[in-house]
Amino acid sequence: MTGAARALSARLRDVSGLLARRFGRPEICAHEAEPVRNLVLTILSQNTTDANRDRAFDLLTKRFPTIPTLAAARPSDLEDAIRVGGLARAKAKAILGALARIREERGGYSLDFLRGMPLPEAREYLTSFPGVGVKTANILLLFSFGMPAFPVDTHVLRVTKRLGLVPPTSDLAKAALSLEPHVEIGDHGPLHLNLIRLGREVCRPRNPLCAECPLLTVCPEGKRREKAHATGGSGEVAAGGGRSEVKRPTPGKMRSLGYPRGRKYGGHSRADSPHGEPRTESPSEAAPRYELRAAGVPPQKEERGAQPKGKRCTA
Ligand code: SF4
Repeated sequence: MTGAARALSARLRDVSGLLARRFGRPEICAHEAEPVRNLVLTILSQNTTDANRDRAFDLLTKRFPTIPTLAAARPSDLEDAIRVGGLARAKAKAILGALARIREERGGYSLDFLRGMPLPEAREYLTSFPGVGVKTANILLLFSFGMPAFPVDTHVLRVTKRLGLVPPTSDLAKAALSLEPHVEIGDHGPLHLNLIRLGREVCRPRNPLCAECPLLTVCPEGKRREKAHATGGSGEVAAGGGRSEVKRPTPGKMRSLGYPRGRKYGGHSRADSPHGEPRTESPSEAAPRYELRAAGVPPQKEERGAQPKGKRCTA
């Protein structure tokens, strides 16, 4: 291992540790979700919102409760069922094509044969399906098979660019493949989920809350933004997207992040800042529903009934 590779591994370890202190360590169950259902879900997730993807999946599941009934569906019926998710014709074709190919090649609809494959081969197989890229393949491999794959979505890409862990020109696939071997075994899921949570709650595309970020001490972009704020600078386009104006979090925002009432976190004073205090909120509060679903984390109350049926996890 080169010095640069060792340094990247060490930085990822530090980032993961700091995130776990703030958000807790999400539990990942790798055996819960049925992989072929997650393949269908990933196809439905293209170019739509999480909410519409979930609606489309729930309608599809109600109309075609088993994979064989889904595979035997008429394309027009499947299109009707998933229309709420958009691109219904293309997605119906992709789903039916994928199921037909799996059955033809494997004599059934199970993707369990992927368990015995090396990770690169399994990823290559999944990405050979139209509409399945490295991100969605890695989500399946991580959450359905427990492989050490590292999914990078737009949140993870933005945060890792700002942290300087990947070059500013990286795309989702390049970032995933460059980071994956440097993440500690067993940490791929928790780090992925915590980076997404950070990206949604703190390291937002615009106006990231650097002063309250658990990664500020290890983040060159955050330090640059804080310095610019201290000297009154603003407006420069920053690494990972967004502008460099530094907006202080309002008390309401801090409360929405779970900080206690009656304490001041605004401005530059960190006297009252909760930096470093261990926080143990459930990951289901903010992590994306798909990944949580795939990881077997129970759905929120309003989602119940929509959860894909899978094998119970006994691990
Ligand atoms: Fe993002 Fe700022 Fe945190 Fe860096 S310090 S990860 S730029 S919120």
